[in-house]
Amino acid sequence: MVNGVRRCPTLEGDLPKMQPTIFNVHTIILGSGAAGLNAALQLQRRGITDLLILTEGLTFGTSINAGSDKQTYYKLNLYGDGRDSVRDVAETLFNGGAADGDTAMVEAALSARAFYNLLELGVQFPQDAYGQFPGYKTDHDPRQRATSIGPYTSREMCHTLIAEVKRLQIHISEHRIAVRLLTVPTNENKQRIAGVFCINIDNPLETCLEFYLCENLIFATGGLGGLYRDSVYPRKHTGGIGLAMEIGARCQNLAESQFGLASTAFRWNVSGSYMQVMPRFISTDINGNDEREFLDTYYNQPSEKLNDVFLKGYQWPFDAGKICGSSLVDLLVYRETVECNRRVFLDYRTNSPQFDIRTLPNEPRKYLEQCEATHGTPIDRLEKMNPQAIKLYKTNGIDLHNNRLEIALCIQHNNGGVSVNRYWESVNIQHLFAVGEVAGTHGITRPGGAALNAGQVGGFRVAEWIAAKYNEKTLDSKVAIKAAEQLKEQLMNGAIDNIEDERGEFQARMSENVGAIVFPDKLSGAVEETRKQLRRLSNEKKIATSSKHLAESLRTRTLVYAAYVYTNAITENVEAGSRGSRIVVEETGNQIHPKLEIRYKPEQEQYRNIIKETQPPETHIKRSPRPLPVSGEWFEKVWANFQDWKHLD
Ligand SMILES: Cc1cc2nc3c(=O)[nH]c(=O)nc-3n(C[C@H](O)[C@H](O)[C@H](O)COP(=O)(O)OP(=O)(O)OC[C@H]3O[C@@H](n4cnc5c(N)ncnc54)[C@H](O)[C@@H]3O)c2cc1C
Repeated sequence: MVNGVRRCPTLEGDLPKMQPTIFNVHTIILGSGAAGLNAALQLQRRGITDLLILTEGLTFGTSINAGSDKQTYYKLNLYGDGRDSVRDVAETLFNGGAADGDTAMVEAALSARAFYNLLELGVQFPQDAYGQFPGYKTDHDPRQRATSIGPYTSREMCHTLIAEVKRLQIHISEHRIAVRLLTVPTNENKQRIAGVFCINIDNPLETCLEFYLCENLIFATGGLGGLYRDSVYPRKHTGGIGLAMEIGARCQNLAESQFGLASTAFRWNVSGSYMQVMPRFISTDINGNDEREFLDTYYNQPSEKLNDVFLKGYQWPFDAGKICGSSLVDLLVYRETVECNRRVFLDYRTNSPQFDIRTLPNEPRKYLEQCEATHGTPIDRLEKMNPQAIKLYKTNGIDLHNNRLEIALCIQHNNGGVSVNRYWESVNIQHLFAVGEVAGTHGITRPGGAALNAGQVGGFRVAEWIAAKYNEKTLDSKVAIKAAEQLKEQLMNGAIDNIEDERGEFQARMSENVGAIVFPDKLSGAVEETRKQLRRLSNEKKIATSSKHLAESLRTRTLVYAAYVYTNAITENVEAGSRGSRIVVEETGNQIHPKLEIRYKPEQEQYRNIIKETQPPETHIKRSPRPLPVSGEWFEKVWANFQDWKHLD
């Protein structure tokens, strides 16, 4: 037994040599971030009790380790006369461009329910004296729908959800690295999920391989943490989308990501007050010499520079639409680090020589006056406006009073992912459900905080579907075991010698070629180099030295596979021009700045409402988004359909 989950004694040892232990579970949740945890909870509430959460560990992933100045949760406006509706929220999500209308509608419709669920479980979202939930306006948000409990909203969500999952005694197996998913054909000649291979890293090599047969798999492995060098994903998050890609799960919008400025030694978004206090931007050569206040070259007036830096506070994501405004700052940081091979730091200890509160533009001056923080140096102002922000770095070994803070333009989120239907089931692999960041339900842009909402909503939907439609056992376990036997051989001798070097290779390539700034002439080289690396690693036939070595080797290969699929998808999307959080460089394109040689290809409007699907590894399909459903049906009709289960059709 693993935490009470059934083994199959008759099958155990069926496979030669490595003798994987085989388990049989009705529904597996792979990943224990905020999305996976809620999915488990909702399944249990709907009577699916033969459940198992498989995870690297409860302290791994983005949700429990990431945060920001004020980490945002997006929902229907629930405050005062801030008029809002499900339809309005759905339109905001849909209008991000290239988003499916049905999933946008579901994310809007279930947002209040998901929010209240967290609230009832104990997440302390702020409320006023009358029990109302005030909100603020976040990026790409026309209303004030956002809320927060501070820097660690998603961490608190996880702690609360974990407590409930444990209270309900849902089985959790930690220290499991999933290394391969298994599919088998259905009678209709489609593919369906059949199980997951994991490495149990607590076991010695000989007994580390485990195979979990399952009827349903909830794939909740998060975003593309391990793919980029310049990344604000927590180091304890690698991501697992490559596992779904390897079995041919169709994906969409892979080229739509979110980038922004972040510190790199301790990974954290430098948004909000970190920018509103207007620190100095210093660059040095790689050894820390040749100090320059490099932004100055590009701004005629110091007040313009300070204004753009200030605006970065609440215009945090790099945004092609603001490339001639506050996003110029991101671009200049990128140039300094990636193209000039220098290092960039924020310095809070002194003001820029030209800083003068009296000559600041209205917006930053008024803001600082409201905060009573017009005095002293950036660190003095930060001390006044947000002392927690200083404490946070101190707790993580960086004293902003005495040290500069190294930053880069970093990947933070993937809007795309596995293509799902309105119940979050994969569109081409039956019984595979994707929830959380790994599900590709967002468009070109999304409101800040919509990622956490979408992750919670997905859990409700998969549970409803599985309870209603996939409750029975339909998997032929003999067929599945036979398929597993064939796959097992490939896994056993897949060790790689220099895992760190191999990862460093593709991570640097991703950051330098398919990051926020794309140079089309470099893309075919990047694709080719990734193909070569994949081929080289696929041909390695070594025996691992430990279970951890085997797990990380197999994971590295899956990451390279994902890097290959992403690089292809981003290459394919160059035709759409600069949009969302990425610009495409073009010699004859629009000028960004008179002193910058590079120009950008403007967004090509004809692609705004085209979803780019990817059939891994490299087939691309264009399609129109599924439309926003029309609401307004007669109550009695909806009721009758609901009683006949027709809403699931
Ligand atoms: C710095 C930062 C700030 C952010 N701020 C916001 C914000 O303000 N608002 C917002 O909405 N979103 C924000 N996001 C995005 C949001 O936090 C994530 O999208 C969300 O937390 C992802 O949750 P998840 O459950 O899908 O994945 P995760 O929380 O990443 O969980 C993934 C799980 O899968 C497991 N896993 C992965 N691969 C394997 C494998 N092979 N085997 C076993 N287990 C595996 C991991 O261990 C983990 O348990 C931010 C992200 C970052 C990085």
